[in-house]
Amino acid sequence: MSIELQTIFGFKVDIDTYEGGKEGIPNLIRLFKKHDIPASFFGVMGPDHSGRAAFRVFTHKGFLRKMIRTKAPSQYGLKTMLYGTLLPGPFMPVKLKKHYKNIIDEGFELGMHGYDHIAWHNNLTRWSEERIRNEYKKMMQAYSDAIGEDVKSLGTPGWQESIRHIKVTDSLGFSYRSDTRFSQPYFPSIDGYVSNTLEIPTTFPSLDEIMGREDMQEKNPVEYMMQYFEKDKVNIFTLHTELEGRSYLGFLEEFILKLKEIENIEFLTLSDISKRICQKKDIPKKTFHMGEVKGRAGLVAIAENK
Ligand SMILES: [Zn+2]
Repeated sequence: MSIELQTIFGFKVDIDTYEGGKEGIPNLIRLFKKHDIPASFFGVMGPDHSGRAAFRVFTHKGFLRKMIRTKAPSQYGLKTMLYGTLLPGPFMPVKLKKHYKNIIDEGFELGMHGYDHIAWHNNLTRWSEERIRNEYKKMMQAYSDAIGEDVKSLGTPGWQESIRHIKVTDSLGFSYRSDTRFSQPYFPSIDGYVSNTLEIPTTFPSLDEIMGREDMQEKNPVEYMMQYFEKDKVNIFTLHTELEGRSYLGFLEEFILKLKEIENIEFLTLSDISKRICQKKDIPKKTFHMGEVKGRAGLVAIAENK
């Protein structure tokens, strides 16, 4: 069963680090406005402890290889690599307050992307409901302190998901979440529990995932990405302020221009997509598992096609 739709495209922008946000947010706002494209940003609502990711070298197979392949130290900057280890982590909703507010003032959407990105990425699937509720309390307070209004959405760091997290977000009355990978929006359904919050999954691989792929060598990354584009469907591309907001801004502009050539394509924020989808009656229910995607170390939540 699938949802009959026109061709919709949503840009989901993850703000993982302080340095990436500081440079990437203004660059991306400028680019999206130049092309009259809406976008949904998701910002970390706690400290930037990116340096602690260095410890994943020892705990996650393939992480070091990926860091070298994607030239992470040069992309993310030396300071970012030290936050939370040798340097204290900047509290992002305070240090980036001007930029976070600007996202809203310029007409874009801002949701949450975890409290401590590293802790969420590493532990969310193991956390109890109580722990997750505490995390939400801290994030929602930080959001309303920074923005002056209540938050309405969240996308989990690193596409992590759990039934306990789903139950917590269901109780918050958000119109959607964006935590997983799949080909179309759905309602998560696990062990007899059906979520009442629409999941709008990322449908494309991310740029850092395709960069080191064997079949990508010598190809134009925009052409390569376009093989994942689907007509008459909701397409969601996740980008990062650290990459497409800085060194890979040129890739993003070329991608936008390519997409704009498509007839009847409509660019929407994820919240507008959720309004559009929720009017439909045939939204599928899907279960998910933690699985591998090509080019990414560790596991992500992937819905199952059955
Ligand atoms: Zn992230």
